Amino acid sequence: MSRLTDLIEDAESIAVIGHIRPDGDDLGSCLGLYNYIKENYPHVTRLRVFLEKAAPKFDFLKGMDEVSHKIGNDDKDYDLVACLDCATKDRLGEFDIILDGAKHSICVDHHKTNPCYCEFNDVRPDASSTSEVIYELLEDDRISLDTATCLYTGIAHDTGIFQYSATSQRTMEIGGRLLRKGISAEEIISNSYYQKSYDQIRAWGYAYEKAVLCERGRCIYTIMTWKDMKKFGITSMDLDGVSSELRNVSGVLFSMLLYQDGSNEFKASMRSTGNVDCSAVAVKHDGGGHAHASGCTCQGDPEEIAAMILSEIREQL
Ligand code: 5GP
Ligand code: MN
Repeated sequence: MSRLTDLIEDAESIAVIGHIRPDGDDLGSCLGLYNYIKENYPHVTRLRVFLEKAAPKFDFLKGMDEVSHKIGNDDKDYDLVACLDCATKDRLGEFDIILDGAKHSICVDHHKTNPCYCEFNDVRPDASSTSEVIYELLEDDRISLDTATCLYTGIAHDTGIFQYSATSQRTMEIGGRLLRKGISAEEIISNSYYQKSYDQIRAWGYAYEKAVLCERGRCIYTIMTWKDMKKFGITSMDLDGVSSELRNVSGVLFSMLLYQDGSNEFKASMRSTGNVDCSAVAVKHDGGGHAHASGCTCQGDPEEIAAMILSEIREQL
């Protein structure tokens, strides 16, 4: 038993909520928990999962077709609201009013910048992913194949397929336990992580071509405007992964993709390695995340934003 399952035992209505622009870990943890409650707690008469629209490559996750993208009139008085993988209340987007109206709330996360904005908070900065934390809070023998598929997807995405430094012995053990449920790991990884559309690889090629290597080869950044995205018929969701890929350039300690998100607004998707903590820079600009993967939103000219962020990173080099 865990605090999370204790709270589920006592609730008749539950809402599970993720963050804006949900990624693999957010979708995996939210749908994993949703399926687990649905399968094991028949006393929960009203159960919903709220998420923004996600990339179609995640459609294989069980429950994706039951996700609510909008709030209804009866969505403001849940017995329990669980906010997963969401580093700040702001990042719940318009779903924050569901949290405001809840009798009880719990946040399960692994972002070290999380200020613990719910009634109960289980934030584990050392965990590879929120999906890993969710696994720890559930009972293994009650986890179905569908739930296992969701949690494995979440862990695989947030660890760069069991690669990044937060991948611990425990992460691998959990991966193994989920494999034992009979999941198709190869299919999950190939279809949701590596596979890309033709438009997408051309856009990635363009983003690479425009990349600027600076700070004597230790930093790299690229900018994608709406115009650039339109040229290739893609959205910013299709650029997920570009920043991580740029970090693979040899000698690079910090990489950044700046993509347009408003007429005068750009989102910074940052990655770093070694002692460079990009979350410190993200927090300065009201963003957050992890030491080696973080993000924030900035207004103004993208080249000026890049210069500002790079000058802050320079202090850490
Ligand atoms: P990504 O670059 O993949 O969009 O985000 C990298 C990490 O930073 C993710 O863990 C994400 O949750 C976090 N992140 C991205 N943007 C923001 C933001 O604006 N605020 C906060 N608090 N975290 C963010
Ligand atoms: Mn995560």
